[in-house]
Amino acid sequence: MTAYLVRNVSVVGGAPTDLLIRDGAVAETGAGLTAPDATVIDATGLVALPGLVDLHTHLREPGREDAETVESGSRAAALGGYTAVCAMANTSPVADTAGVVEQVWRLGREAGLVDVQPIGAVTVGLAGERLAELGAMADSAARVRIFSDDGHCVADPKLMRRALEYVKAFDGVIAQHAEEPRLTEGAQMHEGEVSTRLGLTGWPAVAEEAIIARDVLLAEHVGSRLHICHVSTAGSVEVLRHAKARGVKVTAEVTPHHLLLTDEKAATYDPVYKVNPPLRTASDVTALRAALADGVIDIIATDHAPHAVEDKECEWAYARPGMLGLETALSIALDVLGPQWDLIAERMSRAPARIAGLDGHGVDPAPGVPANLTLVDPAARRVIEPAELASRSRNTPYARMTLPGRIVATFLRGEPTVLDGKAVK
Ligand SMILES: [Zn+2]
Repeated sequence: MTAYLVRNVSVVGGAPTDLLIRDGAVAETGAGLTAPDATVIDATGLVALPGLVDLHTHLREPGREDAETVESGSRAAALGGYTAVCAMANTSPVADTAGVVEQVWRLGREAGLVDVQPIGAVTVGLAGERLAELGAMADSAARVRIFSDDGHCVADPKLMRRALEYVKAFDGVIAQHAEEPRLTEGAQMHEGEVSTRLGLTGWPAVAEEAIIARDVLLAEHVGSRLHICHVSTAGSVEVLRHAKARGVKVTAEVTPHHLLLTDEKAATYDPVYKVNPPLRTASDVTALRAALADGVIDIIATDHAPHAVEDKECEWAYARPGMLGLETALSIALDVLGPQWDLIAERMSRAPARIAGLDGHGVDPAPGVPANLTLVDPAARRVIEPAELASRSRNTPYARMTLPGRIVATFLRGEPTVLDGKAVK
């Protein structure tokens, strides 16, 4: 195993130091380290972060390997600075059995680019009718701890209660896609001034807020852990603030796109901006940014949702919702938060690793710590070219935008997955 001596790097924004990576771990830190056998990386001007952790990734395998595979999604993740991703269950077949979650977990290990932690479905086939084999998935080799019907809401309150009760035994988490389905039938975009102007059926904020309000009360009643996927409205932030003040064990995520883009984008009728939950208003964006800063929202999660060209480059009404996210998330975070490195490390690595219970991830580089880390050039600016992305799909809403920051290197247990900004394998 090659040793690496990273020279003059700022660890999470601190004063420049050297980092020696050996045998899968950070062996030493300090100024002027020597290691004759090590490959030297001049990291002057670069920032080292604990490897990023994505709690919400769609890898599409099994079933839609034309849109993404575990391997291509893992490569996109590594290039985005990630060392671990949680793979959502809405594959085909659905990841609702020990067999499917073990398949995804094994494919992740074979790719060897990031740790792929499967998320199990809450209900059989995501149909919302009966609980999936949560215990069998938890006991499987994949050791599933997060369960979600993402893409669909667990709308039945009795099923949601039972799911929360069930996972309590092994400290599991239910990750809810909060969308009251009766309120969003036929919805094409956020319900508001823009949808009225365009004559498109709206997805009202209350459809999200009502489910979050119900579920924080259920989680409080049961005493279980609840996670809210892709929070998108100012009202949801207020419900979460109230729940957290009461001590409810709820955590929440926001996506990069909900931190940057608004429903005005729908006026272009470019389906690349169609996403679920939809892009909201500028005042929602402001509230989400404030909640991310003050901790009401715990993490940034990408909701990386690759789609094949025929599913995305069509009429708005027929296009699938979803956007790519893994290769641009850190740049969006830098754009939105500025160089607040400790906050970025907390929201994109430490907190998601804690929620998912991923040992060895989300820990700042220090002697003895597994070398899961990424090196960022904050001064670089890059133009996003969809054709250059490692994802098999091209549905990025940031095409030809200039974004700050570039991932220079990523290490998974001491082995580089990215060097000089390029995937190693
Ligand atoms: Zn979702």
